Amino acid sequence: MSNGFTPTSPFGYRVTPHITAGEFALNQEARRFQTLAQCQTATRLAEFMEQARTHFGGKPLIITSGYRPPAVNRRVGGASNSEHLYNGADIGAADFYIRGVSVYMVQDYCDQHWPYSVGYGAPRGFVHLGIRTGRPRVRWDY
Ligand SMILES: [Zn+2]
Repeated sequence: MSNGFTPTSPFGYRVTPHITAGEFALNQEARRFQTLAQCQTATRLAEFMEQARTHFGGKPLIITSGYRPPAVNRRVGGASNSEHLYNGADIGAADFYIRGVSVYMVQDYCDQHWPYSVGYGAPRGFVHLGIRTGRPRVRWDY
């Protein structure tokens, strides 16, 4: 899966029509992806988020956490094996919500349609959408 997204893509680069490279990095250089594999994993996540965005009427989709390099992950208190580390082939995650749509409805949509990891973050205002190859349909509460 190659859509041209690489670690050196500008933050304005559109991974999918409505999701930019910078959104996975919260527009911080310290959170820029370092490998092509990470970009490819992010692309899979973005394609599903784009699908969810369309399903709920095309309202703005907000990523609240994407890639967390180890130092960032430690600083924010992320789990030591967090999918946000993108530290292996096909490991990655994004936390997001859709403005003007119940995050519980978005969470249910992900629960029903995403075959990998979903963290039930709705009580905290986001859905965790993740991938970890070989571990389909992982679900957890916070
Ligand atoms: Zn997360």
